[in-house]
Amino acid sequence: MTEPVLVSKAPPDSLFELATDQWTEPYWQAAREHRLVWPTCTACGAARELGAPFCHHCLSQDIAWKPLSGRGTLYSYTVVRFPLIEAMNDCVPYVPAVVELEGAGGHRLISNVVGAPLDALRVGAAVEVSWHDRADGVTVARFVLAE
Ligand SMILES: [Zn+2]
Ligand SMILES: [Zn+2]
Repeated sequence: MTEPVLVSKAPPDSLFELATDQWTEPYWQAAREHRLVWPTCTACGAARELGAPFCHHCLSQDIAWKPLSGRGTLYSYTVVRFPLIEAMNDCVPYVPAVVELEGAGGHRLISNVVGAPLDALRVGAAVEVSWHDRADGVTVARFVLAE
């Protein structure tokens, strides 16, 4: 007997509310336009940490938002098969993932991989961004397995 193919779902929107500050607002504003951007230090050229007020390499606060391709690789992931809270009952299995973003200097984003057969997931798999527009105006970057 073969087991059914399980496809990864997404957690419900109700589980988080967005609070931004001057260091994260440009990221979320670009996301609303379905553009993935990354903070870059204009003093030393390094890719910065998302949300950090200083460049970790040269301590400058100078920042520019560089467009990324939206492609990346699966750096790490886990599969959540059992709902830990009632709000997650219809959302399993889901796949929290760490995605290394192309063009972001080795920096990574914590997100979810959605719509993927669980047995197709591999560390190092090519993924690409898939935008999810929430009813409250927040747009979240999720990832799908690249073709
Ligand atoms: Zn710098
Ligand atoms: Zn860095």
